[in-house]
Amino acid sequence: MDLGIKGRRAIVCASSKGLGRACAMALANEGVHVTVTARGAEALAKTAADIRKANPGVTVTEVAGDITTPAGREAVLKACPDPDILVNNAGGPPPGDFRNWTRDDWIKALDANMLTPIELIRATVDGMMARKFGRIVNITSAAVKAPIEVLGLSNGARSGLTGFVAGVARKTVINNVTINALLPGPFDTDRLRGPVAKVDAEKRGITVDQLLAERARLNPAGRFGDPEEFGLACAFLCGAKAGFITGQNILLDGGAFPGTM
Ligand code: NAP
Repeated sequence: MDLGIKGRRAIVCASSKGLGRACAMALANEGVHVTVTARGAEALAKTAADIRKANPGVTVTEVAGDITTPAGREAVLKACPDPDILVNNAGGPPPGDFRNWTRDDWIKALDANMLTPIELIRATVDGMMARKFGRIVNITSAAVKAPIEVLGLSNGARSGLTGFVAGVARKTVINNVTINALLPGPFDTDRLRGPVAKVDAEKRGITVDQLLAERARLNPAGRFGDPEEFGLACAFLCGAKAGFITGQNILLDGGAFPGTM
């Protein structure tokens, strides 16, 4: 299926690894020129090289920096001032007990998972509307639909972004600019093996591998998601014919969320 976005320009934030990388690769596979970002320059250079190798006709621009800082965002927007597509992403906040979180912890989570996407939307959406094409995809989390207790910082910050976007997405679509969120359940990335799994495994006196094997088995799909599946869903939402989908929160979790809707 040709998604009709060949030659478009995309910013894909936090994309040297995991879900962001899969989104950048899927967009490049559609002929989209991509600007990729991450803090670690080495992994970013490797990802950029992999995308170029798979898609020699596509321009891949790397911007190393922290997307949650004004300087990081400025650098990305300088490299790609008029994107047609914006994929918002950043690392998730750490797990913990809300009793221990300070105001600074909250500000950091809000900066990363709410205010950074809002700042990037603010910087790009008017240009998209003037050009009558724009696709914005926010990578949030299944935690927006079903909160994960130890990830209160994530539950709160991402829900704030979701509420904000629900309003704006209905105002931009008149000019063929859509804003949607993809809500990952468990995907097989480094993040899955990170602090949340470690804390859980320690609590239960089992290894991280044992914990993850059990989690995969208990998912209705009997496995974790493959980041490539996530990237393809993102590319579809960015497609020329996806202009009637806006303000939606699409769960990719193998059916783990037990609700009817
Ligand atoms: P990942 O595999 O750990 O990859 C994270 C990517 O983001 C890396 O390229 C990392 O590179 C980059 N990054 C992190 N913080 C950044 C920052 N401040 N500025 C620029 N780049 C940054 O994580 P993932 O699994 O793809 O997760 C992506 C998002 O989805 C996270 O917010 C995560 O919480 C959320 N999520 C994931 C899952 C899952 O199962 N995987 C489930 C629910 C929600 P550097 O470290 O070099 O910057």
